[in-house]
Amino acid sequence: MSGMVVQLDTASVSSRYRSAVDETVTELSLLPVNPAAASVAALVRSGLQHQDVAGVLAQAPGGVERVIEQAVDEHQRWRPSVASNAASAAALVRILLLQQIDLAWWAEAPDFTLADDVARSTALVDLRDARSAGGVRFGFGVASDRLHRRVRDYAVQRARPSWEPRGPGLPFVRARPEMVALLNEVADAVALAAPANTPRLWVSSIVRSVAHQQRLRSLGYSALLPSAHCRGWAADIEMWWFDRFGASAALRGVLQQYLHAGVLNVIDEGRAWHVCLAPTATSRYEGAAQQLDRPTRRLKLWP
Ligand SMILES: [Zn+2]
Repeated sequence: MSGMVVQLDTASVSSRYRSAVDETVTELSLLPVNPAAASVAALVRSGLQHQDVAGVLAQAPGGVERVIEQAVDEHQRWRPSVASNAASAAALVRILLLQQIDLAWWAEAPDFTLADDVARSTALVDLRDARSAGGVRFGFGVASDRLHRRVRDYAVQRARPSWEPRGPGLPFVRARPEMVALLNEVADAVALAAPANTPRLWVSSIVRSVAHQQRLRSLGYSALLPSAHCRGWAADIEMWWFDRFGASAALRGVLQQYLHAGVLNVIDEGRAWHVCLAPTATSRYEGAAQQLDRPTRRLKLWP
């Protein structure tokens, strides 16, 4: 029972934190175009003074001062671009501030710095192996699989337009088994709530190395660092694509349930929604995680 108390408490702190962030971001969006860095800093600083916000940020790496500095930096750096997943500078600051919940949760977890660290980690499983064994119930593409994928894409698009979203696919096909079990469970819950003939949930990103994240930034993507993706505890789920099947409301509803239960941090990042698993909820997925090498029956749905 005590575990439940901690989870509910986590959810209520995160809900107060989210309201404070929303207020701050609304004020940021009302600033004139190209505001001075000092005005952005002052606004973010005053927004972050709220007790609940300060409590979350005190646990994030570098504390409040780092977050203010990064918020100003990202705000000034933002440019309208197809590569950016934020629609405005204020929206990017919102994503940054909400991701601090992930970082407060996983402050002690080490980063996967290079591709080699991802390849060698014993905490990760190969998603293709797990999929071949029937242990993966969500869709994903594989970025490195280019030739095979081009041929297959052509066949898929001819047969069934929009059956899979366009995108580069996962940069790394390894993931924490607990994250696979969580995404399986979310996929099952969405399948029950979505209209008939909706395709499987599509996951566009799970693990990323710090080096990969830096490369995305250099290409103009709003890839933030530090990031729970680089610690293996976050994933991005395609939302806009689900709209084509009238299924995005079902997906949003399921994600909101996990958010309110304190199991996931959930961030609307536009095309895809970002989720991060709470440390207090990982034990829930350990049993299922050990069975990824065999076809899994549907788990008891939760919440
Ligand atoms: Zn993400």
